[in-house]
Amino acid sequence: MTSTTLFYIIIAIIIINFILDKVLDALNAKHYNDPIPEELSDVYDEAEYKKSQAYKQTNYKFGIWSSTFSLALTLAFLLLDGFEYVDTIARSYSNNPIVIALLFFGIIMFVSSIITMPFSYYKTFVIEEKFGFNKTTKKTFVFDKIKGLLMMAILGGGILSLIIWIYQLTQDQFWLYAWGVVTLFTVFMNMFYSRLIVPLFNKQIPLEDGTLRDKISDYAKSVGFNLNKIFVIDGSKRSTKANAYFSGFGSEKRVTLYDTLIKDLDEDEIVAVLAHEVGHYKRKHIIFNLIASILLTGITLYILSIFISNPLLSNALGVPIPSFHVGLVAFGLLYSPISGITGLIMNHLSRKFEYQADNYAKNTYMAEPLVTSLKKLNKNSLSNLTPHPAYVFIHYSHPTLLQRVENLKR
Ligand SMILES: [Zn+2]
Repeated sequence: MTSTTLFYIIIAIIIINFILDKVLDALNAKHYNDPIPEELSDVYDEAEYKKSQAYKQTNYKFGIWSSTFSLALTLAFLLLDGFEYVDTIARSYSNNPIVIALLFFGIIMFVSSIITMPFSYYKTFVIEEKFGFNKTTKKTFVFDKIKGLLMMAILGGGILSLIIWIYQLTQDQFWLYAWGVVTLFTVFMNMFYSRLIVPLFNKQIPLEDGTLRDKISDYAKSVGFNLNKIFVIDGSKRSTKANAYFSGFGSEKRVTLYDTLIKDLDEDEIVAVLAHEVGHYKRKHIIFNLIASILLTGITLYILSIFISNPLLSNALGVPIPSFHVGLVAFGLLYSPISGITGLIMNHLSRKFEYQADNYAKNTYMAEPLVTSLKKLNKNSLSNLTPHPAYVFIHYSHPTLLQRVENLKR
């Protein structure tokens, strides 16, 4: 194998991936106007249905433009030896491999986030605005981007430095130690995400005393679930779309409700949504996902350790001086079909888990309020009620609304 062959394999992977993705999108788009299934006929009225059709079309077209642009950018960068160019700049500032790697990724991340900024701006302030979802101010938008970049620089940069340092010390064995570090980091983030990261972007206040809190506590008690940390987050600061999620585990376990969810759903529906989330806990989905992702990381790091010292990886991207950071990029590109397949498996499992959590809510609380809450949430986000099965198979982490409603009514 020569570096030129490897280069063309990388280009082929990128192009094939793009084509598959677009074919799937087009297939899905062809079914936008399918008749709505009987079971879901009460989700939209005529005007809302028209609006949801327009929203799907707009997003579809936007997806074609933005992904074609990013494909062109990636290919141009590869064909014009962009990685070598950035690597040379980084090397002109330091001889230290960690500093070079940080500069290398820093430049690429920074420039790419500037280039893709107009797309993200358009998505928020033109598309979401037009359909009445957007609540983000320009100021919030700018600060979100800056905070996101800083967080990436600190967390991503920290982990990367640590891994390169470990690599220099331990070479072939590095994957084992790196795995340990990444695992600690993952568990830590899972535990403290709500406490450390969320406050940078949102305000969280404990759910005030009242009938909702009482209903939630009563339900939690009835299934023997310790739930005293219930928070309300100001999701309405950015969007009208609603959500609820659990985070952390052990004593850090907490539930977060979007203020938009409380506004859109009645109390029984909110409890039903929480019962679903409790189901994920009780059926051990949270811990399963955590362990699965740790194992996958270990396998990926092990495979990385076999190839990373091979100069072919760096050379394939047109960089003559082999290095960990350029090798990492090449490896990431070559590994993407494999991570695509593991992603498929995880999506498949996730859809199974959703049914289990729905069933848990049905058995320990009620099915009806969960059905109506799902319908309301889908209506309020103008979601697609007739996705193509192939699209669902590849992209959906949840069963379709129809599948969930049919399962709940069974
Ligand atoms: Zn779920």
